[in-house]
Amino acid sequence: MEKSRREFLSATFAATAGLGLAKPSLSFSMLPESGGRLAILGGTPVRTAPFPSWPMVKENDEKNWSEVLHAGRWCRLDGSFATRFEKAWAETLGAKYCLVTASGTTALLTSLNALDIGPGDEVLVPPYTFVATINVVFMQHALPVFVDTDRDTFQIDARKLEAAITSRTRCILPVHMGGSPADLDKILEVAKAHNLPVLEDACQAHLAEWKHKKVSTIGDLGCFSFQASKNLNSGEGGAILTNNEELFQACWSFHNNGRGTENASFGYERNGLNHRMTEFQAALLLAQMSRLESQSQRRTQNAEYLTSQLREISGVAPARMYEGTTRSAYHLYMFRYDP
Ligand SMILES: *Cc1c(COP(=O)(O)O)cnc(C)c1O
Repeated sequence: MEKSRREFLSATFAATAGLGLAKPSLSFSMLPESGGRLAILGGTPVRTAPFPSWPMVKENDEKNWSEVLHAGRWCRLDGSFATRFEKAWAETLGAKYCLVTASGTTALLTSLNALDIGPGDEVLVPPYTFVATINVVFMQHALPVFVDTDRDTFQIDARKLEAAITSRTRCILPVHMGGSPADLDKILEVAKAHNLPVLEDACQAHLAEWKHKKVSTIGDLGCFSFQASKNLNSGEGGAILTNNEELFQACWSFHNNGRGTENASFGYERNGLNHRMTEFQAALLLAQMSRLESQSQRRTQNAEYLTSQLREISGVAPARMYEGTTRSAYHLYMFRYDP
């Protein structure tokens, strides 16, 4: 049955929002101090102090911020913070090139443009993601084609990719949902067999690894978000990672109104928009980044503790991770509740 675009988009939104929290109907008899009742149901709260505030702001955030402010070079075409962050982020991840953008959404849009995805093209995507992954495909006038979710991992089911490929398929766009890697070995195997580029949506997966390599550097291009809810945060922001110089140049040009990488250039080599990151964002990212590794290790410890405890509760199944996963970013803590 044909669906109108409006119906399709609202159904997509419902699907991406569908994994929220169910109302607790469990009785938690394993919490002795609350007399077996959850605090929300009148039991004694386990926590009395509030959670730590987020984001954390330290001296280096203030120093970098005020340096940009007082230098008066607020645009990346004049300043140096964006370039410095790009270098540091590329080094941290082990990629040749990094380009920062205004957001994760614009990083994905820029990448699709660099890959020349356009009208008539199909892009394989997971239905369980943030809606931006789908929106950017529509913005290129291409068609997102859903490949269903692996119910044990919440990731795109790579075993179902092959069946979704048609003569119009131009790209595979897996998402590392919750910060855990999708099955990259299987995805790359299918991509290679069909000569398709892979664009990794790593917007939730800062520092996550597949076989000790950072995600975002394994496909042809990988994208991050630095929006306020993400593990590395500058309010808004994004980045594209690649080892391919030609794709990097195309991304630079597209995000800079079709101009080349030479800032002085007023040549217009392709179509484009302004998706540049400001110096303020980059200054915050450089400071925030200095704490990302230790914060991520803490997340891992906490998540592993939670997993060990949840395993004791029947009907709660923490997300399984693929064998190649050597690190999860634990942006979300994913589990399935079976009533
Ligand atoms: C956050 C997110 C995006 C979009 O990033 P913005 O910076 O909010 O534009 C895209 N994909 C996924 C999976 C995300 O979580």
